[in-house]
Amino acid sequence: MKKYSLSTQIFISLISGMILGLLCHYCIPAGYLRDDILAEGAFYLVGNAFMRGMQMLVVPLVFCSLVCGTMSIGDTTTLGKVGIKTLGFYLVTTAIAIAIALGLASIVNPGIGLDMSTVKIAETTIAENKGVVETLLDIVPKNPIQSLAEGSMLQIIFFAVLLGFILASQGDGVRHIANNFNQWNSIMMSMTMTVMKVAPIGVFCLVAKTFTEIGLSGFLPMIKYMLCVVGALAIHCLVIYMSMLKVFTGRNPIIFLKKMLPVMGFAFSTASSNATLPLNIETLNKKMGVSKKIASFTIPLGATINMDGTAIMQGVAVVFAAQAFNIPLTPMDYITVIFTATMASIGTAAVPGVGLITLSMVFVSVGLPIEAIGIIMGIDRILDMTRTAVNITGDAVCTVIVAHQENAIKDEIFNKA
Ligand code: ASP
Repeated sequence: MKKYSLSTQIFISLISGMILGLLCHYCIPAGYLRDDILAEGAFYLVGNAFMRGMQMLVVPLVFCSLVCGTMSIGDTTTLGKVGIKTLGFYLVTTAIAIAIALGLASIVNPGIGLDMSTVKIAETTIAENKGVVETLLDIVPKNPIQSLAEGSMLQIIFFAVLLGFILASQGDGVRHIANNFNQWNSIMMSMTMTVMKVAPIGVFCLVAKTFTEIGLSGFLPMIKYMLCVVGALAIHCLVIYMSMLKVFTGRNPIIFLKKMLPVMGFAFSTASSNATLPLNIETLNKKMGVSKKIASFTIPLGATINMDGTAIMQGVAVVFAAQAFNIPLTPMDYITVIFTATMASIGTAAVPGVGLITLSMVFVSVGLPIEAIGIIMGIDRILDMTRTAVNITGDAVCTVIVAHQENAIKDEIFNKA
């Protein structure tokens, strides 16, 4: 594999992991060898060791790079402008994503004709709904050390930005501490590259485990629902994002997609925006020429609050459940779903499977039965992988647009093959 670039290696691993997983699922009978030795043994061990390695980097990397980023932006007006643009982009694209999902699902009708006897229904849990005031209050950390220890991303962002400003405003008096953060920042970036060296093996095992466990058979009764989610994801990613990129920056979407592919492949295999965060920042900085001061701010924020792929799944799931349980939805319900799913996307943690938990908030808001979540749970992992790839692409598109408007992107790096 050595002669291929890391991106190609990740792709080869992804495809071969899928094939091996399917072979294991269909050729080895369920039991000790397939389930305990392979899926829950070797694949789980290696795949999760790699994923934990990436997760290990998230908090220190986000913290150091945000402090450095804010220090180099320096003034509150610029950061305020970047912040407002980023938030605006994230909210608007999420609302568009849900509208696409609702529209497509109303045409495809994923829940009509579903034979309930053919689907597995899992038990579901209801997400606790924190409310807007509590959610906003929760951004301010009571104890920043605890926020770092618990990986509470919005609180970390809050504290790091504040610290960056203070360091910038004190100038030479705190030069040593400022340098210290810069050095830590480059150490964390090198550590990311070191962990990424084993990405092909990690990705291979993560994907092989998933496919060994689930195979393809559970998909058939749910195929309409799955295709509808994947179709809406593709429209949002390839049409909406790419047109925005072209219109707002004039840049070539093909170049962007080519450079993003390994990051998308990585998000697909880990199903975690959080674990993908270091690679996303690194790719935007090194391969697309986006200044670190922008990427280090927009990407952690995006990974935490911008989940268009998750919102799409939730939109389709609403129509699916309404049809499967024969509950008519009014136009007002559709508007409620756009609002609650945008909120749910903000509240969804950037780790595997959480989108399905926050979906209960959306269902409750329009009176759909929570049991419907149990129907889609069995096949959600593959969709989780796919939507996570879209989640992180949305963050990257926003970053390129904001960087372009702030004159913080180098054309020669972006256009370089
Ligand atoms: N796995 C998704 C992410 O990390 C969240 C979800 O939809 O469950 O972005």
